[in-house]
Amino acid sequence: MSEPRLSTELMRRFSRITWITLASYMALVMVVFAGISEIGLRRSLEQSSDLVNSLLGMYADPSGAPDSVGPAMLADQLVGMGERFAITRTTTAADGVPTIYYLSPTMPAKRLGEITATTRDEMRRQVLEALSDRARGQYRILHRPAGEFDIYVVGSRVPFLLGFGALAVGAVLLLPLAALASRSSARRSVADTLVPLQAVADDMARIVPEDLRHRIATPTGQQDVTELATIINGMLDRVERAHRTLGSFTADASHELRTPLTHIRARVQWCLGEHRTDDEVQEALVAIQREVDRTTKMVDDLLLIARGENRQLSIDREEFDLAEVVHEVEEITHAMADGKEISVSGVADGPLLAVGDANRTRQVLLNLASNAVRYTPSGSVRFATEQSDTMVCASVQDTGIGISPAQMERIFDRFYSGDPSRSRALGGAGLGLTIAKVLAELQGGRIEVSSVSEQGSSFSLWLPRSAANIRRS
Ligand code: ADP
Repeated sequence: MSEPRLSTELMRRFSRITWITLASYMALVMVVFAGISEIGLRRSLEQSSDLVNSLLGMYADPSGAPDSVGPAMLADQLVGMGERFAITRTTTAADGVPTIYYLSPTMPAKRLGEITATTRDEMRRQVLEALSDRARGQYRILHRPAGEFDIYVVGSRVPFLLGFGALAVGAVLLLPLAALASRSSARRSVADTLVPLQAVADDMARIVPEDLRHRIATPTGQQDVTELATIINGMLDRVERAHRTLGSFTADASHELRTPLTHIRARVQWCLGEHRTDDEVQEALVAIQREVDRTTKMVDDLLLIARGENRQLSIDREEFDLAEVVHEVEEITHAMADGKEISVSGVADGPLLAVGDANRTRQVLLNLASNAVRYTPSGSVRFATEQSDTMVCASVQDTGIGISPAQMERIFDRFYSGDPSRSRALGGAGLGLTIAKVLAELQGGRIEVSSVSEQGSSFSLWLPRSAANIRRS
């Protein structure tokens, strides 16, 4: 299914809004026009009725000719023949029966016949009915009682209807023209608006896996697009870094595996040489075994990292006492620090209930503790615990060589050794912190580091806290 282009979609929406706006505006203009016309007509009818009212004295004589006129004729007179007003007068005889006369300015008064009404109200209703039958919406009728008289004034709506019609025709003809004009200017605006987005797309098209250094140029001229470009640039930074790490990982892994293999081969060749004593061969085999063990451990570590990163490592999610694990690690650290001028101490009041994998946590803390001992020529290694609302923490603080800000960015990378000469001498393959980070994250936790060069470092392992944790902060 082909998706619409953004410009097409914007234009479609814009056109719809334009049509709705213009049509609503026209409808509003017509409603206002109709309202004003009606009010004007009513005003003019009221003025006429006021005038007629002031002249009523002239129509006072009801004793006219005996002819009678029906309401229909009265209506014809008013509507059909274009009179503007008519007057009726009601007199009541002694027996209470009303007699109604139609008064005309030019003729004697006539009795209003064909009327079945026995009351004046009924008579008015019948007259008004006859009038509205004739008016058919084209006329507006105003009835005003004035003592014995009833004044009926009629005004034509025809001029207003003509104006209304002209307006409607104008609207129907002009609306498409207005919509067309606004459409062409909208097309230009939409094209202008999409220029920064197009520039971002062009920049992105230039970024290829072989060269990830290019970035999208910012600012783009539009805040939203600049924000998007900044997010993409941030993502590219991470992708480039991951790409570089992967590249250097392959090189590092090959190097790390080649070195022991070269050593092993050299020793095997040496053993195969002539005149080797049993003791010499035995010594070489022990050295070979050491290399094989070291290499096996490295391969195991790499496998653990790969499985961890691919979420294929089985990790418990059980409640355990972190303070107890810290205590065990502290004991082992005493042994690790044996022979060095390092004091090991720790406060781990328990229980401090975490949710995770106790064995993996022990492995992480042992890595951190072994680093602390290895990178502290003399001084102290201290264990501590703390907790927040949702997490518990075990930290290992040392007073060792510290980590520079430049190193800090890379210490969790695979095979990274801050100072290769020093680290290699201390026996690390640069995988310990990578493993620690992977295991912490798999348990829903994280590792935080703070360090000052030549003064010491602090590594904190944060893990989810158990709901049952009752220890007070
Ligand atoms: P390694 O096997 O090299 O110790 P790690 O992944 O454990 O590998 O650590 C990576 C690097 O981080 C180390 O080579 C070292 O430079 C630095 N590092 C880790 N822990 C400490 C520490 N406690 N003090 C100083 N530097 C440290």
